[in-house]
Amino acid sequence: MKKISRRTFNSKLSMGIGAVAFAGSMPWACGMTGTKKESLGVALVGLGTYSTYELAPSLTQTQYCHLAGIVTGTPEKAKVWKDKYNIPNENIYDYENFDTIISNDAIDVVYVVLPNSMHADFCIRAAKAGKHVICEKPMAVSVAECDAIIAACDTAGVKLSVGYRLHSEPYTQEVKRMVSEKTFGDVRYVSADAGYLSTSHPEQWRLDKSLSGGGALMNMGVYAIQSVIYGSGQNPITVSAQEFSTRPQYFKDTDETITAQFEFPNGAIGNIMTSHNANVNRLYTSCDKGWFELNPANNYGPLSGRTSSGETIQFPHERQQKLQMDDFAKHILNDSPNVAPGEMGKRDMIIVEAIYKCIAEGGKKIKLDLGTMGLS
Ligand code: NAD
Repeated sequence: MKKISRRTFNSKLSMGIGAVAFAGSMPWACGMTGTKKESLGVALVGLGTYSTYELAPSLTQTQYCHLAGIVTGTPEKAKVWKDKYNIPNENIYDYENFDTIISNDAIDVVYVVLPNSMHADFCIRAAKAGKHVICEKPMAVSVAECDAIIAACDTAGVKLSVGYRLHSEPYTQEVKRMVSEKTFGDVRYVSADAGYLSTSHPEQWRLDKSLSGGGALMNMGVYAIQSVIYGSGQNPITVSAQEFSTRPQYFKDTDETITAQFEFPNGAIGNIMTSHNANVNRLYTSCDKGWFELNPANNYGPLSGRTSSGETIQFPHERQQKLQMDDFAKHILNDSPNVAPGEMGKRDMIIVEAIYKCIAEGGKKIKLDLGTMGLS
C-alpha cells in the first residue's frame, strides 16, 4: 500500500514551519484591545465533556491561543479548573456575571460549548462584550438564531466561527483537494453516515428537544451534511428525507434515525444517514474514474482513508481541536481564511430545517437555493 498523502503533508508542514518563523518576527495586533498579542486568550463557556476532555487539553498545545478563562454555573468545577489550568479568579465567570467579561482584556475569544438551545444567547452576549466567538455545532437550533448570531458579530465587528474541527484536519483537507483537483474525475455520488448508538441516560439534554433543538440530525447529522458537501464540492439544490423510529420509548422527544438524499448542481447524487441508534462514521465519494473513502470520517481521529487506486490516506495524528482553534486564532491575528465561518453553520441549519420540513410534509422533495453559501 502506497501512502499517497505524504508529499502533500510534507509540503503543508514546511509551509507551516515557514509561517511560524514569519509569525515569530511579526508583532501581531489584537483587534479588540489594540495591544500587541501573539497568543489570544480563550474563555470556554460550559465545562462539560467536550470542554473537559477535548478543548482544554487541546488549548495546552495550541500556538496562537491559550486557555485564559472559564464560564461555568458550577462553583466546584471552577475550583478544579482554576487549580488544574492556573486560571486567575478575575477570569472566572458564571452565567449571570458573564457580560462583565467585556472589561477583561485577557479574554479575546469566547468559545460557547453549551447545549444547543443556549448557543445563540451566549454567542450574542459574547459579541456584545466585544469578544470573538467560536460557537459549537450545531450553530443554533434555527436559521433565525443563526442570523441573530451573525448579525450580533457583524454589529460588534468581531469574528465568528463554528466548531467544525474537521476543516482544520488533514484527512478532510485531502478529500477537499481530491474533489477540487478532480483527482478521480467528476463526482457522481457521495454518501455519508454519522451516528452512534445511544442507550443510557434517557434524561440527557441531547434527547430533550427544548435543549437540543432536535435529535440525531441536529447532533450528528450536521457532520453527514458537511461530509456530502465537501465530499462533492457543492451545495445541494434539492433534498428529500425519511425518519425511522424503532425505540420510541427511549427517543420520546427527538429523532432517532434520519436518511436524506440530495441532488447537486453537476448532477451528482448524495445520500446521508444519521442516527442515535447505530454506530456509523463514513464518507464515500464515487467519481468518473474512481472513488475515495474516509472511514472513520468524523470522530476525533486518527481518521483513516483509502482510494480506488489501492492507496491509503494517512497523516500523523494531531488533536483536531488544537488545529481548529489555532486556525481561528490565525484568522483573527493575521486575517488568514476563516475555514468554518458562521455562514457555513447557517447554511447547514437551512438544510436541517429543510429535512425536518420534508419529513413533516411526507417526504416530498424540497428545493434549496444556497448558491455557494458556506463553501470553503
Ligand atoms: P455536556 O452535557 O457534556 O456539557 C454541557 C455543559 O453545559 C455542562 O457543563 C453543563 O453543566 C452545561 N449546562 C448549562 N446549562 C445546562 C442545561 N440547562 N442542561 C444541561 N447542561 C447545561 O455536553 P457536551 O458534549 O460538552 O456538548 C456541548 C456542546 O458541544 C454541544 O453543542 C455539542 O453539540 C457540542 N459538541 C461538539 C463536539 C465536536 O466534535 N465539535 C463534540 C461534543 C460536543
